[in-house]
Amino acid sequence: MSDSSSSVSRPELQFGNAWEYAPAPESLGALTLRERYDHFINGKWKAPEEGTYFSTANPANEDTLADVAEGSHKDVDRAVKAARKAYDKTWGPMPARERGKFLFRLARIIQERARELAVLESLDGGKPIKESRDIDLPLVAAHFFYHAGWADKLNYAFPNRNPRPVGVCGQIIPWNFPLLMAAWKLAPALACGNTVVLKPAETTSLTALHLMRLCEEADLPPGVVNVVTGHGETGAALVKHPGIDKIAFTGSTEVGKQIAREVAGSSKRLTLELGGKAAHILMDDAAIDQAVEGVIRGIFFNQGHVCCAGSRLFVQESIVDDVMTRLTNRLQTLRVGNPLDKNTDVGAINSREQLERIRGHVACGCEEGATLIQSSTVSLPEKGYWFAPSIFTDVTGEQTIAREEIFGPVLSVMTFRTPKEALERANNTPYGLSAGVWTQKGSKIFAMAQGLKGGVLWANTYNQFDPASPFGGYQESGFGREGGRHGLAAYCHLDF
Ligand code: NAP
Ligand code: MG
Repeated sequence: MSDSSSSVSRPELQFGNAWEYAPAPESLGALTLRERYDHFINGKWKAPEEGTYFSTANPANEDTLADVAEGSHKDVDRAVKAARKAYDKTWGPMPARERGKFLFRLARIIQERARELAVLESLDGGKPIKESRDIDLPLVAAHFFYHAGWADKLNYAFPNRNPRPVGVCGQIIPWNFPLLMAAWKLAPALACGNTVVLKPAETTSLTALHLMRLCEEADLPPGVVNVVTGHGETGAALVKHPGIDKIAFTGSTEVGKQIAREVAGSSKRLTLELGGKAAHILMDDAAIDQAVEGVIRGIFFNQGHVCCAGSRLFVQESIVDDVMTRLTNRLQTLRVGNPLDKNTDVGAINSREQLERIRGHVACGCEEGATLIQSSTVSLPEKGYWFAPSIFTDVTGEQTIAREEIFGPVLSVMTFRTPKEALERANNTPYGLSAGVWTQKGSKIFAMAQGLKGGVLWANTYNQFDPASPFGGYQESGFGREGGRHGLAAYCHLDF
């Protein structure tokens, strides 16, 4: 939906220009970009066998940042063989305590280099620097620290179950949290003694490649982690490769299903972290300002490019007018623009394709009768991929916007009368990744937690992550957990 649409409601900002800030752009600092990035295979930078590269751009202004190697099945094959050799000869036989030291070293280097990695994440992916700096990078380091600690204690994580590594892991990650998803996958795999071939998303390969520069600095033995960049076919080649023992995938439900079909009947292990259509349930006794802030962050955080984004809000009918007033007021004060500006709340949409998907969903919402509210204060930059944060009211459960994952900054507001009705409507989705409950009463939180179908439930907060806490879904949101002991179990063979 373009900003000029006449069917959009744009309430006035109530507090004049009190919310204007002077620009505060982050400098590029120590970041040095290469013009061209090869694959990282067996500890070396390797040109693609077929000699082709694709360009990766800054979605905020469409400028090309670098060329990245296009991986073919030959590159995947080289990487899998390097990972197998490292598994058999170095990483596998290495005492677990020594593996832990490498992970601690890598975690410390990530902390030291957090600023340049955060800048690169925002440049290549479009997310606001305050998120990449304050959320993504601290969590990336935390995941390596947490799993470094487990490396020599797996027998305590799984007493009497004789944990053993799975072997060579193929890991395929999306573009919404490029470095964090790499950390979620690499750290537990390595801590359990596995070796890895990682395929980043085509629009956001750069931070995973920079992480390989840090692996070089950490003297990680060759072949323990390999990165093959490329498109969907590169990922498909990794899934098919007979030398892979486990596939870990995060991305769309559609591709997840294809992968599940591909590995069915093979001995490959599989974990899938797929889409979601999370619901917030906002009860009439909740602290409303706190809830509104949580809902706003839960959907506009990272432009809604979050699988657990709270994209449906169910408000108890008696408070809906109050909630809508506060929600639209807060919508007006969101700052959309340059991802590298420290004041920016909502950055650029990751790619033109994703922008088109979001526009398509929003146009469909309007056609199906919902009312679109956008901010009157937002002016979108001319270049780059942008979408104004949007709230839909007059939404029914049957409308496409209430059922399908939009993966953009779009919130659908609906109402309920009784907790039973809230539960039924929130659970009326093929997904089951996460949900949020807002109420002052602990008893209501427990009742909702019993009834909500979702891998993660937040109460009076939203989108909080910790490496010790398992994350993952039910139904079409996938299976398997990442984080905590459950996440470790996905990278071990265990005796029963
Ligand atoms: P996607 O196609 O599922 O991509 C995820 C990863 O899988 C990327 O690295 C992708 O490579 C790779 N891939 C694509 N096709 C593959 C195949 N046949 N076999 C193996 N790997 C393959 O997701 P997307 O197209 O980037 O996003 C589409 C939708 O996915 C979004 O609108 C959103 O609904 C959902 N999504 C969910 C999450 C999540 O965290 N659950 C994250 C991102 C997207 P390329 O990047 O090179 O295509
Ligand atoms: Mg990019």
